[in-house]
Amino acid sequence: MRIIILGSGIIGLATAWFAAKEGHEVIVIDRQPGPAQETSFANGCQISVSYAEPWASPSALIKMAKWLGKEDAPLLFRPQLRLNQWIWGMYFLRECLPGRVEYNVRHLVGLCAYSRDVLRTLRHETGIQYDELEKGILNFYTSEQDLAGAEKIASVMRELGCDRQVISKERVLELEPAMQPSAEHIVGGDFTSDDETGDIYLFSLRLAEKASSLGVQFKFNHQVTRLLPGASKYDAIAGVEVIDDKGVHATLTAQAYVVAMGSYTPLIVKPLGIYLPIYPVKGYSATLQVTNPALTPTVSISDSAYKMVFTRIGNRLRIAGTAELSGYNRILNPVRCQALTQRAKSLFPGACDFDHPQYWTGLRPTTPSNIPFIGQTRIPNLYLNSGHGTLGWTMGPGSGKALADILSGRAPDIDFQFIGQSAKQS
Ligand SMILES: Cc1cc2nc3c(=O)[nH]c(=O)nc-3n(C[C@H](O)[C@H](O)[C@H](O)COP(=O)(O)OP(=O)(O)OC[C@H]3O[C@@H](n4cnc5c(N)ncnc54)[C@H](O)[C@@H]3O)c2cc1C
Repeated sequence: MRIIILGSGIIGLATAWFAAKEGHEVIVIDRQPGPAQETSFANGCQISVSYAEPWASPSALIKMAKWLGKEDAPLLFRPQLRLNQWIWGMYFLRECLPGRVEYNVRHLVGLCAYSRDVLRTLRHETGIQYDELEKGILNFYTSEQDLAGAEKIASVMRELGCDRQVISKERVLELEPAMQPSAEHIVGGDFTSDDETGDIYLFSLRLAEKASSLGVQFKFNHQVTRLLPGASKYDAIAGVEVIDDKGVHATLTAQAYVVAMGSYTPLIVKPLGIYLPIYPVKGYSATLQVTNPALTPTVSISDSAYKMVFTRIGNRLRIAGTAELSGYNRILNPVRCQALTQRAKSLFPGACDFDHPQYWTGLRPTTPSNIPFIGQTRIPNLYLNSGHGTLGWTMGPGSGKALADILSGRAPDIDFQFIGQSAKQS
C-alpha cells in the first residue's frame, strides 16, 4: 500500500520506519529541510516510563494556582481570547478527577513501557547510536512534604510494573556524586534503574537514514496546505496539497494518509470536521558544553521543585523544562531561558560552560489527558499519530509500530485505547 506520512518528527519517522518494514511504499512530507527540526529537536532526552504521569491531577491544580502570573514559574498560563485554549482548559480540569487520573496513568505507562521495548529492539536490530545511556532516572526532592508524597506515586508505578523506589539522601549522592554540591538542600529522592536517555535528534536523523535505505521517500521543504476531502464527510481523502520552497504547488495521492504533525495536526484536520484537543504547550531547553565531566551528572536528574530535567548527552548537558500555554509562538523568553542555566549552575557548579548556552524552544503537542490520538479516524484512509505531549520520545517508537500494525490490518500488540479500534482482549 502507498502511504503518505505528514510530519518527520519522532512520531512520523517511527511510523515511516515500521510501515516500510511491513513492505508498504512510504512517502514522508515535512516543511523543514530535514528530519526532527521542530519539537523532536532538543528536548529533555529522557525515556521516562516510570515517570509517565499526566500533568492533570488534583495536586497539579494547587501548584498551578500558586504559579499564576509568575514569569519564571514552571507552568505559565497566558490567557488568550482563543476558544481552543479555553476548551482545552475545560477538558484538562475534567482529567484532574481522581478516576480519570488513574485511567490515564495506566494507559500512559502501558504505552511507554511497550515503546521502550520497541526502542531497545530497534536499537539492537539497526545498531543506531545516539549518545544513549542506560543509567536510570533520579528524581530528587528538596522539600520534606514532597518527599512524603513520593511513596504514594512510586507504589502506583510499581503496581504497573515499574521499578520506582524512594531512596535516602545518602543513596541519591551515591548514585550520582555530581549532586554533592547540593547535598545540604536534598532530603531524598526516587530512582528507576530501568529508564534511559539518549539524543532524540541524533536518533531521528539516523532512523531517517535507515528508512531511506529501506526505500522511504522524504519530501522536505514541502508545506502541507490541505487534505482534499472526499464527496461526503465519511468518504476517503482524495489527496494532499503541498507547496515547496520554490512556490510550486502539487497534489500527492496515496491509499492511506497519516497525520503526525505534532501541535499542527488539529489545524490540518479541522476543515474535515475533526476536532482534536491538542494544544501547543511551549517548553524550553538549554544545551551546555561539559567542561568538567567529573562534576557533571551521567544519571539523568529530574528536579521535582523546579520541574526541570538534566540529561547528559555525550559531552553536553541538556537542561529542559517549563511549560507555557500561550499559543503557537516560539519566541525565547530570556527570563525562562536564564532560569534553566541558573538552576544548572547552582546544582552543578564548575561542570559546564555556563556562558555559552544554546537555547531552544519547542511546542509539546499536548492533550488534556496526555494520552495521544493513535489510529484510524471516521474517514477510512485517514490515520492519526499525534498528541504525545510531554512524552513523545518515550512513546514514539511504540506509537509508530502500533500504527504500522493498524495500517497493515492487524491489532497492535498492546492494550491501549487506539482510536477506531476496540481494546485488545487480554
Ligand atoms: C522542552 C521539552 C522537553 C521534552 N522532554 C521530553 C523528554 O525528556 N522525554 C520525552 O519523552 N518527551 C519529551 N518532550 C516531548 C517530545 O519532544 C514531543 O512529544 C515529541 O517531540 C513530539 O513529536 P512529534 O513528531 O509529534 O512532533 P514534531 O517533532 O513537532 O514533528 C511534527 C513535524 O510536522 C511538521 N509539520 C508541521 N506542520 C506542517 C505542515 N503544515 N507542513 C509540513 N510539515 C509540517 C514539522 O515540521 C515537524 O517536523 C519534550 C518536549 C519539550 C518541548
